[in-house]
Amino acid sequence: MGKTVRVFNHVILDFYSVYGKRTAEIDHIIVTDDKIIIGETKAANYVHTDYSEVPWTLLSGDTTDNPIVQNHYHKQVFCSCFGIPRERVITVEFLLEYSNCGLRSQYPNDYVLGKDNLLKGLCLLFSESKETLNFDELCKQLERIEAASVGRENEHEENLKEVREIEEKTRTRDKHYRFKRTDIAKCPLCDGFLVFRYKPWVKKKLGNINNTWNIALGCSNYPITGCNAFITPRKDGGQGFDDVEEIHIEDRMEWTIEERHVGDHFG
Ligand SMILES: [Zn+2]
Repeated sequence: MGKTVRVFNHVILDFYSVYGKRTAEIDHIIVTDDKIIIGETKAANYVHTDYSEVPWTLLSGDTTDNPIVQNHYHKQVFCSCFGIPRERVITVEFLLEYSNCGLRSQYPNDYVLGKDNLLKGLCLLFSESKETLNFDELCKQLERIEAASVGRENEHEENLKEVREIEEKTRTRDKHYRFKRTDIAKCPLCDGFLVFRYKPWVKKKLGNINNTWNIALGCSNYPITGCNAFITPRKDGGQGFDDVEEIHIEDRMEWTIEERHVGDHFG
C-alpha cells in the first residue's frame, strides 16, 4: 500500500482513578499516516457476545471483561495520556474465534472484526487516508513505553483482578458497576482524591470482619496529611456510594461534544 505503518505491542499505560493507581495494557497500537488503531485481540469463546453487556461470560462459566468496553477504556486512557483527539483513534476488537462479527459497536470509531474479515477490515482502515500527520514524537514515546512494559504483565493482571473485585463489591441495585474505570472523585475534606480501600484493615475499621461491605473510599492525601475522609457505602438498600460525585474522564479532558464518527470504512 506504500504506507508507513508502525506497530507497538503490549503497551502498559499508567493512570489514576477512583480505583487507585491502575494500568491499561493495550495489545496493539498501530500508527499509520493519519490515524491510530488501538487493537484488542481475544481468542476466547463467550456464552453471548452482547456488545453492551458488562462483563461477558466465558464458556467455562468464568466472567471476563467485555473486550469492547475494555478497549474503550484503553482508548480513553491513551487519548488522555498523549493528548490525542478521539477522532484520530480507531478501536478494533479482534475476536479470533468468531466470524461474521457485527462490524460497528455502540461506540463511535469502533469496529469488531472476526477471523474472516480481520485482514479485509484492516486493509480498509489503512487505505482510507487523506492526509499525513507527524506521529514521530508519539512513536518515540511508545517505543520507550513498549520496552518498559516488558515484565509488567503480572503486575497488570493483579491490578485487573483488584479492579474486578471492587467492581463486583460496588454493584448498584440495577446491577451496574458504580464507577467507571476512568472515573475520579474529589475528597470532600481536602484537595485530595478518593480512592478505594479494601484491605483487611478496612474490614476491621468497619467493625465487622464478616461484613460484605468491606470496602470504603479514603483520601489519597492520607499518607501525607493524614486526611481521614472515610466514606462507607450506604447500607440502606445496595445503592452504595450514592453521595459520592464522580468526575468522568470526558469532563476532565473537556470532551464535551460527543465523539464524531469519522470515515465510512465498511460502506
Ligand atoms: Zn482528603
